[in-house]
Amino acid sequence: MDCLFCKIAAGEIPSKKLYEDDMVYAFYDIDPKAPVHFLVIPKKHISKLSEINGENSAVIAHIYEVIAKLSKELGLEKGFRVVSNCGEDAGQSVGHIHFHVLSGRLLAWPPG
Ligand code: AMP
Ligand code: ZN
Repeated sequence: MDCLFCKIAAGEIPSKKLYEDDMVYAFYDIDPKAPVHFLVIPKKHISKLSEINGENSAVIAHIYEVIAKLSKELGLEKGFRVVSNCGEDAGQSVGHIHFHVLSGRLLAWPPG
């Protein structure tokens, strides 16, 4: 499959890796929207959040465990935000589910 994030997770396209295990891959966003901005993805392709189901959701729980662990390691105790844009109107530009982790500045609410 011709998927950018599948290739990044497989190491076929270079990225600034933050964390990796057998299920997930975390790397810094190439166009950061905050002083800290990284992405966490499952290694196995899921196109978007609305495709999560009983068969593939274990990795999503694991992604949140990894985010909690990385938030401590990176000293994000003042706060951070997790975003998963799903679909065109939400601005999803890569068709492999990903969780943005944004931190290091005051994050406005509601988002744009
Ligand atoms: P979204 O627009 O929510 O689908 O998020 C996709 C994100 O992937 C954007 O924030 C991009 O900056 C980021 N991105 C695209 N290509 C790369 C890449 N090669 N390495 C790291 N981040 C990327
Ligand atoms: Zn993929």
